[in-house]
Amino acid sequence: MSWGALAAEIEQCTACPELAATRLRVVPGVRPAGARLLLVGEAPGATEDETGVPFAGRAGQLLDRELAEVGLDRSTVAVVNVLKCRPPSNRQPARAEVARCRPWLERQLQLADPELVVTLGGTAAQWFLGTGVRLGASRGVVHEVGGRRVVVTYHPSAALRFGPKGAPLAALREDLAWVAGLLA
Ligand code: SF4
Repeated sequence: MSWGALAAEIEQCTACPELAATRLRVVPGVRPAGARLLLVGEAPGATEDETGVPFAGRAGQLLDRELAEVGLDRSTVAVVNVLKCRPPSNRQPARAEVARCRPWLERQLQLADPELVVTLGGTAAQWFLGTGVRLGASRGVVHEVGGRRVVVTYHPSAALRFGPKGAPLAALREDLAWVAGLLA
């Protein structure tokens, strides 16, 4: 199956009644041909819900800048979310929603088969490493999960929330520079 065919299937999904009723669009994610790196975020926000593009809002713009700083071009990177539909008012994804959406991400991982996965934020880190994971304590290590190499870091929205002098931005920068080195 192609990435586009899988995305078309995801776009038909109504497994979460509340999200299916309130979303404008499903946001399956993007996978440029030959992408070696897959970024996994939490869920679409308002801009993503409007455009259908993952990480298209302010957090996405910050992510693009930070990727470019370390020599990674966003247009060559695969980007998906744990949830493909926006939770109303950007609330935290419910555990049941994450469970329902899990098979989609599993199939995307199989199809994309990236050299390295980078999770952005706690929800994505938990998806791979379990609910007990602590983000700060799990950074800086390549985790082996089901035969995949997984690195965890902060979500760019945390970097926005804590500002330019906050710890999440510094950590995100440090981690992305390290990731670029891993891929070099
Ligand atoms: S969040 Fe995932 S499982 Fe729930 S309706 Fe959207 S695509 Fe389906």
